[in-house]
This record gives sequence, C-alpha cells and structure tokens, in this order.
Amino acid sequence: MNHLLSIEDLDREAIERICDRAASFAEVAGREIKKVPALRGRTVLNLFYESSTRTRSSFELAAKRLSADVVTFAASGSSVEKGESLKDTILTLNAHKPDVIVIRTPWAGSAQLVTGWSPAQVVNAGDGKHEHPTQALLDVHTLRSKLGALDGLDVWIVGDVLHSRVARSNILAFQKMGMRVTVCGPPTLIPRGIEALGCTVRHTLDRLAEADVVYALRMQHERMDQAWIPSLREYAALFQINAARLSPHQILMHPGPVNRGVELSGEVVDSPQAAITAQVEAGVVVRMAVLYEVLAGSRASAAAPSAEGALA
Ligand code: ASP
Repeated sequence: MNHLLSIEDLDREAIERICDRAASFAEVAGREIKKVPALRGRTVLNLFYESSTRTRSSFELAAKRLSADVVTFAASGSSVEKGESLKDTILTLNAHKPDVIVIRTPWAGSAQLVTGWSPAQVVNAGDGKHEHPTQALLDVHTLRSKLGALDGLDVWIVGDVLHSRVARSNILAFQKMGMRVTVCGPPTLIPRGIEALGCTVRHTLDRLAEADVVYALRMQHERMDQAWIPSLREYAALFQINAARLSPHQILMHPGPVNRGVELSGEVVDSPQAAITAQVEAGVVVRMAVLYEVLAGSRASAAAPSAEGALA
C-alpha cells in the first residue's frame, strides 16, 4: 500500500492485515515506555485544514510511538490564512522532505491531489464529505476486538448520512468485512441512490432491534447550507438513540464528537454498551499500523519488515 486515500482501495485481506498489525501494536500501549523504533528517522507531517480532536492527536501519538519525527501543522496560524493555496502549501512543505503527509481538509478529493504534488506517501484523514478511511479501519478493529468475525452481522448507520464521510467509508469497510449495512435517517439526510453501494435504506427506527451494531452519526452542521430538518428537537424525537430504543444486546458506536441530547441521549453515551472510548483507543494503534503500512509499502514490498521486527 503506497497511500491510504479511500477504503475502495483496500480489499478484505488488506483491512484484516492492518487490524492484525494494530492488535500487535496494542501491546506497546501497555508498556511503561510506549515507543518502538519502527519509523526512526522518518518524518510525518500532519496537515489539518479542519478542526479535529481525536484524529489529529491520535495520528501524532501514533507517529511518536513509532519513533518518527512529527510536525503538526494546522491551517489557522499558518500562511494558509494569508491565502496560500493547498498546492503551494504542499510544495513549500515538501522542502522538509516528509515521508508521510497526513491530511484533513473540507475538500473532497484533496488527499488524492496531494499525491500529485509530493513524493511523500499520503494518508487521508478526512476529505470533505468524501471519505475518512482510518475511522472505518479503527471501527472494524474495535468490532473485531469485541466480537471476532463480523460476517453476517447487521449494522445500522443512523443519522446525517448525507454530509458524513464516515458513513461512506464505513459502508464500504463493513460490507467488505461481510456485514449487512442499513442506513437510517430522515429522507433529506440520506443521499439519493445510496442503495447502489449495497446497503438497505430505512426512514424510521421501527426495526432497529434487528441491528447487532448501532452506529450513530453526528449532525454535521458545518456542512449544511440550509435547514435539512425542521428542528433538532424533532430530529431527536424520531431518530435519537436512547435507552428506550437501544436493546441490551446491541453495541453502540459513534465517531465523535457526540452531540449529547441530539443523536445520542446522555445515558446511552455513558452506558456499558457504548464502544465510543474503545474507538478512540483503537485510533492510535490503527493509525500506527497505517503509518507503518504506507512506509513499508513504499519500499519494495518484498523487503517490508514484519510486525514482529517493528515491535523490537
Ligand atoms: N470526526 C468525524 C469526522 O471528522 C465525524 C464527525 O466529525 O462527526 O468526519
């Protein structure tokens, strides 16, 4: 694997390989000195044009735990504010000779464009409404750690699917892992024709009990230029996942940040069924595995070091 731009580029075997490697890196997190030398001498550049709590901090931690040198660069406070274009910013930062560029922007397709402007390996940390592949990988990893094989399980993705890059990546990844995917939300927040991806569409939670996994999405206000729902109160009345709607056998997931009282009630966020903290923990080890994979893949794959070697 040279870059990680989209879940479309990965087959099931590659997803499983990344998750297995993440599981082997989990041991490092339990050590007193949480560091291995796998990427010593490599430079990782984190370039964030959009706000982020989990993704940015976990990429930074992942790179540091692999002993890479890390530069985290946020658009605010940089020359981007003075009008420098993405292309000129990348050409400038190329002078630092990054081995990997991790990039998040509000523009769909931007990670792909960066591959044409830099010799570095590129990892998409979210490009507008398009994709968020490391989120999907960490979600698969979280579920595999809890449930083992995922074949034949039902996952419902509930909420603002229209504006969600997480939904797009996760529909693809969950299906590749053999899960059945249902997307559910008000008609205005479900993209037309999404069935073509192989998922079922529902506009009520009536059959939510069929789900093994309930994956709630945030209302993405920052990508809304009009009123897509009458009010948050009305949305919550019909689609909020709360204790009355969540069955005891179901696992609850959410990519964060959570709007308590909108897509999730506070009680389910704090319930033992919520895997939200486990998802954040998985973020570090999965991103370690992705950084390792893109750098190993960029050398001759035959010479790619084993996970065992990386853990020395
Ligand atoms: N953190 C995720 C993303 O960046 C989900 C969200 O923001 O709602 O897409």
